[in-house]
Amino acid sequence: MLFKDIVGQSEVKNKLIRSVRDNRIAHAQLFTGPEGTGKLMLAIAYAQYISCQNRGENDSCGVCSSCHKFEKLIHPDLHFVFPVNETKKKDEDEKSASRQSDAFIRQWREAILFNPYISESQWYETIGLENKLGIINTAESSEVIKKLSLKSFEADYKTMIIWLPERMHINASNRLLKLIEEPPPKTLFLLITENMGALLSTILSRTQIVKILPLKREEIATALVERYRLSPGKAQDISRVANGNFQTALTLTTITEENPYFEMFRQLMRHCYSKNVLGLLDWVDEASSLSREKQKEMMLYSIKTIRECFMLNIGLGDIAYLSGEEADFGKKFSPFVNNSNIKAIYAHYNSAIEHLGRNGNPQVVFTDFSLNMALLINRKT
Ligand SMILES: [Zn+2]
Repeated sequence: MLFKDIVGQSEVKNKLIRSVRDNRIAHAQLFTGPEGTGKLMLAIAYAQYISCQNRGENDSCGVCSSCHKFEKLIHPDLHFVFPVNETKKKDEDEKSASRQSDAFIRQWREAILFNPYISESQWYETIGLENKLGIINTAESSEVIKKLSLKSFEADYKTMIIWLPERMHINASNRLLKLIEEPPPKTLFLLITENMGALLSTILSRTQIVKILPLKREEIATALVERYRLSPGKAQDISRVANGNFQTALTLTTITEENPYFEMFRQLMRHCYSKNVLGLLDWVDEASSLSREKQKEMMLYSIKTIRECFMLNIGLGDIAYLSGEEADFGKKFSPFVNNSNIKAIYAHYNSAIEHLGRNGNPQVVFTDFSLNMALLINRKT
């Protein structure tokens, strides 16, 4: 992965590149920031740059044998740990094996190469965890210690990337403390977190913090036009809703093309408008039966549609962003999204998405959310 393939983040890229050029590579670094900001890509590009046999001023060469292996994520000195859990396997042997990263390394490489902005819930969906959370267990920490005690195979450095250390069992964290504090020479720990507050303070105190900020609206819009061939108008529209998260932007790009969630959105808003509580509860059941990733997609799609209706309401809307049935519905529905309720609607959507992301019970989250929506939609201007 090259630095130039990563959207935005020029400040962090420069800092990382400088640390290599000045030979000041901190042996344990914690990349912290929200989802969809390219943290994992930055870590991989950094490790690749360190290993590159012919690195340039600002990026890896991309063609040396080390770069070739990094591009496929198969370099023998690049190690990954990430949360996993038991999938639907039959016997006990397979069960215990399936609770460590190595059992999923092939799926991991494919998933990251396909979409390096992958979110935690997308990863769980890829490996079939459905609505279970992944963990990094204690046996995994022994594996890490074992791998890092070996000499590096080809590169100068061995790199251990731990994705989402907040999912690490406390015993696993404790076992790694000593290694993170005093790793063998030429060993690099890159921890990538979306919830720094959930990490042990002893881990935090042993790592150098690298803060990764949400992407700028313009960076997202430009990338959507240049890399995904979106029209500038559509790219701007998506970048406004994406909230600095490139994964959200990508999700919205595919949803606007296929749009499977329009009917769910329309049903919800109709039940809200008519204060049909039984209808709302049916909707809650339907929404809860979706996979966690689909729940999030549906909610993101709805926020985008709500925003378009609001723009129509205040006379700034461009109906061109809505198509066919959506446009008809948008015109009729737009009076119900106005200055008096738009902020609260956004807040309830975002809080529901956050709770779903933290594994909140979908029935509880959606019930609370839909009842609040019914109150808000009926609020008089
Ligand atoms: Zn190279």
